[in-house]
Amino acid sequence: MNRESRAGVGMTSARTRERLIGRLREQGIRDEETLAAMSAVPRHLFVDEALATRAYEDTALPIGQGQTISQPYIVGRMTAALRTSGPLERVLEVGTGSGYQAAVLSHLAKQVYTVERIADLARAARRRFQALHLTNITVRHADGCEGWPQEAPFDAIMVTAAARTVPEAFFGQLKEGGRLVVPVGADGQALFLYRRRGTAMTVERLEAVNFVPLLPGSLV
Ligand code: SAH
Repeated sequence: MNRESRAGVGMTSARTRERLIGRLREQGIRDEETLAAMSAVPRHLFVDEALATRAYEDTALPIGQGQTISQPYIVGRMTAALRTSGPLERVLEVGTGSGYQAAVLSHLAKQVYTVERIADLARAARRRFQALHLTNITVRHADGCEGWPQEAPFDAIMVTAAARTVPEAFFGQLKEGGRLVVPVGADGQALFLYRRRGTAMTVERLEAVNFVPLLPGSLV
């Protein structure tokens, strides 16, 4: 693509991105800071060039290796959920994928830590963060089911792959008042929001979702 047609895509994408943000607001994403963060991140740069024209549809898209970039509505819903009832300085994301969700979080948090089990995806995400000058994101190629003990505790943890059962490590790595948002289940999944209150956790079911599975153990 030459420079002019690239600029054309850029202009179109700014407009279609705003249209998407408007739709998310209508669908009930009311947290303006979350919406502003989403309008600051060019989602088309987080998918393959062949899919870039679909980047501002409210749909999940393939990112290779059998994985997907989450649907924007779900990104908005999960991000807004983490912003309730407390600061968002240090955030852990499990399942970097394309890096889009981490990029959105980087506009809202001081420091974002994100863990990915597939080396190629971790590498590609790191390159995107560099290109976009998102310097407050650290990517690690590791099993996210362990959380990130060296950087804990976190104000919030977001898991973007579906857990059969929630790994214990996540609860132990939350600060007092910390939030954990995680999809749970196999065929029928739901999104849960946990909050740490002293030694106890409260839990709220948000809605039905459909994520790729959280795979413990083996790295690729
Ligand atoms: N948040 C991503 C979408 C994630 S798709 C985005 O914005 O694009 C889910 C990701 O979780 C996949 O990339 C998958 O490889 C990763 N994953 C699955 N199990 C994992 C584990 N145990 N540790 C780290 N990453 C994992």
